[in-house]
Amino acid sequence: MIVTMRRGIATTGRVRRILRERSAAVSTVLFLCLAFSPSYAATSYTISLANPDQHLIEVQILLPEGAAQRELQLPVWNALYQVRDFAQYVDWVRAKDSAGHSLSVRELDKSRWQIANAQGGVVIDYQMFVDSPGPFGAELNSHHAFLNLAQILMYPVDARNRPMVVRFSQVPSGWQVATPLTSISDGGFSAENYDRLVDSPVEIGMFKESDFDEAGAHYRVIVDAEPGDYDMNQIDARLHKIVAAAISWMNDRPFDSYMFLYHFPHGPGGGGMEHAYSTAIAMNADVLAKSPESLASVTAHEFFHLWNVKRIRPQTLEPVDYTKENYTRALWFSEGCTSTAADMIQLRSGLLEERRFELQLASEINELEGRHAHLTQSAEESSLDAWLEGRTSYQRPERSISYYNKGELLGIVLDLAVRDASHDRASLREVFQWMNQNYAKQGKFFADSEGVREAAEAVSHSDLKWFFEQYVAGTEEIPWNDFFHSVGLRLIRQTYKVADAGFVPSRNSDGSVSVGALTAGSAAERADLRVGDSVLEINGNATKREFVGDLAGLHAGDTITVKIRNRSGAEVELKWKVRTREESVYELKDLENITAEQRTRRAAWLKGEAE
Ligand SMILES: [Zn+2]
Repeated sequence: MIVTMRRGIATTGRVRRILRERSAAVSTVLFLCLAFSPSYAATSYTISLANPDQHLIEVQILLPEGAAQRELQLPVWNALYQVRDFAQYVDWVRAKDSAGHSLSVRELDKSRWQIANAQGGVVIDYQMFVDSPGPFGAELNSHHAFLNLAQILMYPVDARNRPMVVRFSQVPSGWQVATPLTSISDGGFSAENYDRLVDSPVEIGMFKESDFDEAGAHYRVIVDAEPGDYDMNQIDARLHKIVAAAISWMNDRPFDSYMFLYHFPHGPGGGGMEHAYSTAIAMNADVLAKSPESLASVTAHEFFHLWNVKRIRPQTLEPVDYTKENYTRALWFSEGCTSTAADMIQLRSGLLEERRFELQLASEINELEGRHAHLTQSAEESSLDAWLEGRTSYQRPERSISYYNKGELLGIVLDLAVRDASHDRASLREVFQWMNQNYAKQGKFFADSEGVREAAEAVSHSDLKWFFEQYVAGTEEIPWNDFFHSVGLRLIRQTYKVADAGFVPSRNSDGSVSVGALTAGSAAERADLRVGDSVLEINGNATKREFVGDLAGLHAGDTITVKIRNRSGAEVELKWKVRTREESVYELKDLENITAEQRTRRAAWLKGEAE
């Protein structure tokens, strides 16, 4: 069950007092209480929110009696496939025994600490700076707290699989707690182990909430945003459609309750993070106002993740190794094909119309074909290289493709290949359902691309080695029209001359803008612009607030003036003339003479169903 708790009502005076006090004596009292409570073997965390203005939290960990020597590990990565070394935010670590005597804390590496003489139980305290906003971060400020717990909670290395309890103390008055974790009687929350604990985001603040039931499950919707920036009824109405369509598509509902957590900030950044029983999504308020359907798209993607990646899970991600990169070749499927499934869910629920779906599809093809790296980096390699995504040079179109982009397209063509091979008796839907039955429901994990191939071959009763060798492990050009012909569509490529400034600006996570890509041999390169330079102004307009997609407004022959801070730290103004370049644009159109058979297949395809 998910609990939203109003501070001061659900907690008794005794517990509040214990939570607020931080003296050695009270720690001992709490420790003794713990020793006699039913959850005595649990690792217990208390997170104090006493300093929102300074973005400081204090964490207290109570480890029950056990081995004399204990080790505590803070994950180096979480949420994003990027090593972010959360230990950089830990100010200090202290430990004492159950009698309140100090114990020595020895740092073993940048993210691991060792405590000796801990056999009678130990109390560990540390302070952390948490000011990283968004669904992939941990943040405390005067407005709210949003926490991905893996970024702030060290785990006992010898008890990661044991029960855990977390409590929040010094919560500012009027703030409430929302989390998919199970609530316990004293106002805390419990989890069966560390992995489940940290797969549960926590929002603490003055959010709005709504709830509904659909297909036998209970859903809570938590929104932390300006009241004028969203319409709760509209969000609820879309969520009803998304969850109903997804559950019917999978013919499965592996949960009784689920939580949607939304933030609609005015600044940059956003995205969605999947969890087994919840999702946290941030979308810029202006984007939401302009295209409310994009919220449905992100939501359908994150919701489908509760199957694909959370339960239908590649073996290479299990068990999670929090100490280093976890390499997997399967993100093209776990992320990309999740987007394909999200398309099907939106099509089935009426949230996405056929024409818009085809436009989106053509635009995805445009993106893939427009990146030279589609001929050199496979979908599997792109999955492995996810850990390089934070690096600017990696994002160059000559270096990398996106496993989201190619993976979503692979999901589309795999769907069509399975339909073809099975004479329309199976589709991508059956591939997912097969993997759900044969892996997720059996508590097993699949062998990356081999596991997907196994499922696709099982439901189509055919050999699909060619597909996986050429397009998943390989970098063969995808013969789009061979696939689309069966549903009466063809891909048309048109070329245009477009103005080309010679570089692509990209927005960094802190809101600043830098040179993301540079055309080799361009006037911009000759003017001494380089990838990674900070872009401060374009034609006199600061890039700080408005995004600089306005490069599209330039014409060939115009002079562009760009103020940058270069790699030596110097502010310089560069000028050059805008040139032209040929750009291909792809479009999906109906075949001229569509047969009745193609029409029937198209209709089934757009419902995500076999015939
Ligand atoms: Zn995803």
